[in-house]
Amino acid sequence: MGPQRDVAVDVLVVGAGLAGLQVATGLARRGHEVLLVEARSSLTTSVRTTGIFVHRTLQDYTFPDHTLGPPIRRMVLYPPSRRRPVELVSGRDEFRVGRMAALYEAAGERAVRAGVGLRLGTRYAGRDAGASHLEGPGGDLRVRARFVVGADGARSRVADDLGLSRNRQLLVGAEEVYPAVPRPGSPPTFHCVLDPRLAPGYLAWVVDDGEHVHVGTAGYPARFDGGLRQALAHLRDDPPGLDGLPAAPAERRAGPIPVGGLLARISGPDGLLVGDAAGAVSPLTAGGLDPCLRLSDHAVDTLDEALGGAGPGALRAYDGQVLRRRLTGRLALRTALAHLRPPWVHEAGFGLLRTTWGAAAARRVLFHDQSFPLASREVGRAV
Ligand SMILES: Cc1cc2nc3c(=O)[nH]c(=O)nc-3n(C[C@H](O)[C@H](O)[C@H](O)COP(=O)(O)OP(=O)(O)OC[C@H]3O[C@@H](n4cnc5c(N)ncnc54)[C@H](O)[C@@H]3O)c2cc1C
Repeated sequence: MGPQRDVAVDVLVVGAGLAGLQVATGLARRGHEVLLVEARSSLTTSVRTTGIFVHRTLQDYTFPDHTLGPPIRRMVLYPPSRRRPVELVSGRDEFRVGRMAALYEAAGERAVRAGVGLRLGTRYAGRDAGASHLEGPGGDLRVRARFVVGADGARSRVADDLGLSRNRQLLVGAEEVYPAVPRPGSPPTFHCVLDPRLAPGYLAWVVDDGEHVHVGTAGYPARFDGGLRQALAHLRDDPPGLDGLPAAPAERRAGPIPVGGLLARISGPDGLLVGDAAGAVSPLTAGGLDPCLRLSDHAVDTLDEALGGAGPGALRAYDGQVLRRRLTGRLALRTALAHLRPPWVHEAGFGLLRTTWGAAAARRVLFHDQSFPLASREVGRAV
């Protein structure tokens, strides 16, 4: 252990995923002194997410062009038997897969330019007497911050230390990324397999945007018959829509995905939670990138008010309970999905999807403009 030093800042943000980077940059731009700490020694390693951004996010936020893959308009849904898949094609760009290492790197540079003090390889190790303890390469630090932001992911330690809610319903997901095999004439496609053996309570995916192929699955951890790895191996051996895959992946990614909906208590007098730490993931699609950006913007507005003179009382407006009510429909569908167990039920569901009404319903869920129930106050914000 190195010598311990004391530091004072306005806000300590723990975790430099997309949520932490967005909050830290937003606050620094409003003139606050922000320290952002990240346990990983580089923003470009140990990426966890596939990084699929949906239409609405791409409309409301601007990303440097080199950080996004080609647009995807075609989606194909497969039942467990893989027979008679349902094809949905949109007239607009529905998805783009983030080149996540480049995206985190660009967001990190932007944070530093805004004035954020970014410390990599630095772990938040707990709190006592109002100070946060950090362990990093330059020795240990005791940080006194007016507010602490927990952006430390689905199993947030900050949530515990601030006495806030914790995620209880978690899926686990894993994927492999391969360089795309050129397939002339075939458009970028998002293949989804709804098979409870491969993805219990969720779905398995093969996203081929022409540059990379992401092969992944997620589900309730206790319900994979032979475990998550085996399910991923089955998918890799027989990837829908592809003849095969290169021998070895370029990258492997994995992590927990909270799907219990936004947590009820996400703020207290000492700070607040954002991103996965706050459960800000769509319970239905398990997409967390759009919610984490929007909730982070809301956190910036709230903390700016608190730091600008309103004091800790302003954090009461950052209320998970209120936002959670707007997710009721999606939470009900998540519960329904969680209970769909036998493959024949999925097979039968595809009968409905093949009707005009069913296909229209699928389009509404998959090609939708609904996002997390918080409009970005200023659209066109950079990430
Ligand atoms: C396999 C998989 C695929 C996914 N695909 C998609 C998708 O395609 N589209 C989509 O919208 N969502 C997807 N998600 C969900 C999405 O990735 C997350 O919701 C989103 O990335 C959350 O961002 P975050 O910043 O809150 O958390 P994270 O990205 O998890 O960041 C948390 C950070 O905190 C750091 N940290 C943790 N503890 C400490 C500590 N004690 N001290 C310092 N640092 C700490 C971690 O190292 C990490 O960098 C996927 C998730 C998984 C697991």
